[in-house]
Amino acid sequence: MLEISNLTTHYFQGGQVATAVRGVSLTLNKGLATAIVGESGSGKSTVAMSVMRMIRPPIGDIAEGTIRVNGTDVTAASPKRMREILRTSIGFVPQDPTTALDPLYTIRSQIVEAMPHVERNKRTETIVELLTSLGIADARDRLREHPHQFSGGMRQRVAIAIALAKEPDLLIADEPTTALDVTTQIGILRLLDRLRRERHLTTMFITHDIRVARLVCQDVAVMYGGVVVESGPLSAVVEAPSHPYTQALLDASSLDVGPRQRLRAISGSPPTLLSMPSGCPFAPRCPNATDICRSEMPATTRKADGSSFACWNPVAS
Ligand code: ATP
Ligand code: MG
Repeated sequence: MLEISNLTTHYFQGGQVATAVRGVSLTLNKGLATAIVGESGSGKSTVAMSVMRMIRPPIGDIAEGTIRVNGTDVTAASPKRMREILRTSIGFVPQDPTTALDPLYTIRSQIVEAMPHVERNKRTETIVELLTSLGIADARDRLREHPHQFSGGMRQRVAIAIALAKEPDLLIADEPTTALDVTTQIGILRLLDRLRRERHLTTMFITHDIRVARLVCQDVAVMYGGVVVESGPLSAVVEAPSHPYTQALLDASSLDVGPRQRLRAISGSPPTLLSMPSGCPFAPRCPNATDICRSEMPATTRKADGSSFACWNPVAS
């Protein structure tokens, strides 16, 4: 469904080139949810925005690689073809629902825009059905309302409705619940899981929290410093992590402490883009690091459980 191979994406920062994503290869299987997990700045959103071709000069550029959505290489698509793909095949739910909604327009008019394929006289019915299935009880009465009349959780449901109205093959959700309280978060996560199963939606689910990933995803790609350090079936990766960074993320997420302490559980901080080490980006913080880790990027090793990792000195199993 989505096949990313050897993706390298740059940002142009004040005359300098910063590599935010380096040699990322990733396959999203049809009908499954794949979590992209990693700390802030690891390049998760950059991967998603590269798929949607949202990184263009002067902001940045895809420097290398191919990205196939349903077989079409979006890195080679014309602007017209790309708009077509975005209009019909890819639904996007951003972290902050307010960015997906226009305060000046009614809920109905914003969803209608995403469903030109639905016959005019069936649109209201289709929207009511969609919103109802997303847990908005009195949907019909609320179509004429504006975003500010909705709570945060409800606004995120409307953002999901807009993403789904086009009946996409691929849903990209970038930290879709971070702005919400825990109860609402769980409701939205359950909803996304149900929609995936009912609609056979291929989902890219971006989160910094591996526990959230475990609630809704079947596959995972762990990112650090712009590279995928470990990927594969989520259960396999969680049960037997090979990359020390994955191990550290899992250790940190099982600690029953406040968010600040959790961050501190992995000591040190991620690399800055302009000073990317030539070897493994995690080497400076890695308990297993040896000389080769600092000089050479490890090749990818495949395991019998279907997962892969890139590490010279993997976690002993
Ligand atoms: P977060 O969890 O904070 O959303 P992320 O994993 O999504 O982080 P990205 O947003 O992909 O990370 O950013 C990767 C790197 O690229 C970061 O170092 C970030 O500072 C840099 N970056 C992101 N957007 C831009 C931009 N528009 N211009 C320059 N650098 C950028
Ligand atoms: Mg992000």
